[in-house]
Amino acid sequence: MKDSGKEKMQKPVYGLGSNILFMLRRGAAHPGVLWILGLEVASGVAISVTGLYMAPVFLGLLEKHGSFMELLLVIAGFSLALMGLNGLEAYVKAIDLVGRIQVRLSILHEINRKLGECSFPLLFMPEFQDRKTNAQAATKNNVCATELFWETLYEILKNGICFLVYLLLIARVNPLLILSTTLITVLGFMWTRHFDRWGYDHREEEAAIHRKGNYFYQCAKSTALAKDIRIFGMKEWLLDIEADVRRLLRDFSGRSERNHLAGDIIGIVLDLLRNGIIYAYLLAVTLRGGLSASEFLLYFIAATGFTSQVTGLLTGVGKIYRQSLEISSVREFCETEEPFLFEGGQELRIESGGLYEFEFRDVTFRYPGVKKPVLEHFNLKLKSGEKLAVVGLNGAGKTTMVRLLCGFLDPDSGEVLLNGVNIREYNRRDYYKLFGAVFQDFSVLAGSVAENVSQSHTPDMDRVQACLEQAGIRERMERFPEKYGTKLQKTLYPEEAVELSGGELQRLMLARMLYKDAPVTVLDEPTAALDALAEKDIYERYEDFTKGNTSVYISHRLASTRFCDRVILLGNGGILEEGTHEELMAQGGRYAELFELQSKYYREDVAAKQGGY
Ligand code: ADP
Repeated sequence: MKDSGKEKMQKPVYGLGSNILFMLRRGAAHPGVLWILGLEVASGVAISVTGLYMAPVFLGLLEKHGSFMELLLVIAGFSLALMGLNGLEAYVKAIDLVGRIQVRLSILHEINRKLGECSFPLLFMPEFQDRKTNAQAATKNNVCATELFWETLYEILKNGICFLVYLLLIARVNPLLILSTTLITVLGFMWTRHFDRWGYDHREEEAAIHRKGNYFYQCAKSTALAKDIRIFGMKEWLLDIEADVRRLLRDFSGRSERNHLAGDIIGIVLDLLRNGIIYAYLLAVTLRGGLSASEFLLYFIAATGFTSQVTGLLTGVGKIYRQSLEISSVREFCETEEPFLFEGGQELRIESGGLYEFEFRDVTFRYPGVKKPVLEHFNLKLKSGEKLAVVGLNGAGKTTMVRLLCGFLDPDSGEVLLNGVNIREYNRRDYYKLFGAVFQDFSVLAGSVAENVSQSHTPDMDRVQACLEQAGIRERMERFPEKYGTKLQKTLYPEEAVELSGGELQRLMLARMLYKDAPVTVLDEPTAALDALAEKDIYERYEDFTKGNTSVYISHRLASTRFCDRVILLGNGGILEEGTHEELMAQGGRYAELFELQSKYYREDVAAKQGGY
C-alpha cells in the first residue's frame, strides 16, 4: 500500500497549549466543569497517597508493638478515609458529564452556526468540507475529542501530581534516585512520542480506509440503491469493495500493531530499569540496616506506583496530542475566512415597489477544480420588473447564472451589479432579502406546513392560507386532519408526518416563495416534478406569482418562455440567442429548432397517453 500519510499531512494551525487554553476557557464558561475536574484530581491523588501509606503505617505500628486498639484505629482510620475519598470520587465522576456535555454542545452550536451562515462558495471547497468532517467528528458524541479532553486532562494531572509526590518521597532515600527516575521517564516519553507519531503520520491513510468502509456501509443501507443493487446485480461488486476495505484495514492494523508492540516492549524494558534501580538501592540500604521494614515497604510501593503513573501520564499525553489536533480542526473550521461581507458593507434597504436592476458585466466563473468556465465574459442586463426566461441544454450554466445573481457565488472576474453597484459592496445578508426563490434542490424542514411556508415558528395563518391558495395546494393541505399544522419529515415525526409527492412539495415551495414577498423572483425548474396539467396551471398563475416583480424563470420546457418578456438561450459560456419567444421562433435558429423538437415529442407523448398509438 502507498505510504502517503507524510506528504499529505497538514500541520494544525493551533498547538497543544493554545488548544488546552481554548478548552479551559470553554470549561470556565460552564458552571462546575473546572471545579469538578479539580475535585476529581484532588480525590484521585488523595486516594493514591492514602493507599500508599496504609500498609507501611500499619507495619510501622506492629514494629513498634502498638496495642490492639491502636492497630484497630489505624485500620479504621485509613478505611474510613479511603471510603470517604472513593465516595467523593464516585460522586464527582457521576456528575462530571453534565457540564462537559454542555461544553461540547456549545462548540457544536458554533459549528452548526458556521455551517448555516457561511457563504455558499465555501460549500464547494474540498478543504472546507474536510474541515467540516473533522470538526463534526470532534463533537458528535460522548467519546469524541471535545468531551474526552476532560478525562484525559484528569489522567494527566492525577498521574503527574502522584508521580511528583512519589518522586519527592523516594528522594528522601537518596536524591540521586530523582535523577535516574526522571531520566528514564523522559527517555520513555521520547520513545512513546516516536511510536505515537506513527499513528499521527499515517492518520490520512487510516481516514481514507475508514472513508471507503463508510461509503460501502452507506451504499449497503441506502434504500435508493437497494433497487439498483437488485436489478443490476451489484451485490458482487459491493462485496468486492467490502473485501478490499477489510484487506486494507487488516494490513493497516497489522502495521499499527507491530509499531505499538515495539513501543510496548521498549516501555516495559525502561519500566524494569527504572524500578529495578530503585528496588536494588532500597534492598541494599535495608540490608545495611538503613531502612526499617515499614520504610522499605513504603518506598517499594511508591516505586511500584511509578509504572502505572508513568504509563497513565504517557498515554494521557499521547491522547491529548491527538485530541488537540481535533480541537484545532474545530477552531480552523469555525474561523474559515468568508469571501463575502456579511456585515460591515453597504446597507441595502428593501422597499416594496423599489427599482432593482441587475447587470452581469463581463462575468467569468468556473467551479473550483474544474478547468472549463461555466460562464465566460458573460454580459446581461435585467431591467426592473422584467420577466426573463433562461433556457438551454443541461449543463449550459442556467443554475450557475442564478447562483451568481442571488449572490451565492462570486465571479472569478467581472462584476454582478445591482443598480450600478457591485453586489460585493453590500452586506450579503441584506442582499439575500431581495430574493424569493424556488430552487431545484429545495429543502423541507421537519416542522408543520405553516412553519415551512412562513419559515418561522409564528406564522401569519391568513397569509399562509392565501399563499397556499395561490400556489394551488390549499385544498390538498386542508384535507389533512391537522390542516396547516400537518407535520412534514418522517425523520423527526415518524408517526404524524405525511409524505408529499414531488409536485406537492414544489407547490409548497412556491407558497414559501410567495410568503416571503420579495421584490425579485427566481424560479429554477419549478415545474420539473409536475405533470403536464399541473405545469399548465403553474404557467397560468405565473403572472399572479410575479406581480410587478423582476423575475428569472429557468425551465427546460421551452413552452414556459411565452409568459416571459424576454428569453435567453444559454450555451458555450454565454448567450447564444436572445429575444421574445416569437422573435426567436422567427429567427429559426437553435431555439426554434429545440422548440420544434420538444413540441413534437410533447405532442407524441400526449397522443400516446390519449391512446393515439
Ligand atoms: P444547468 O442549470 O444549465 O443544467 P449548471 O449551472 O447546473 O447547468 O451547471 C453548469 C456546469 O457546471 C455543468 O457542467 C455542471 O456539471 C457544472 N457544475 C455545476 N455545479 C458544480 C459544482 N458544484 N462543482 C463543479 N461543477 C459544477
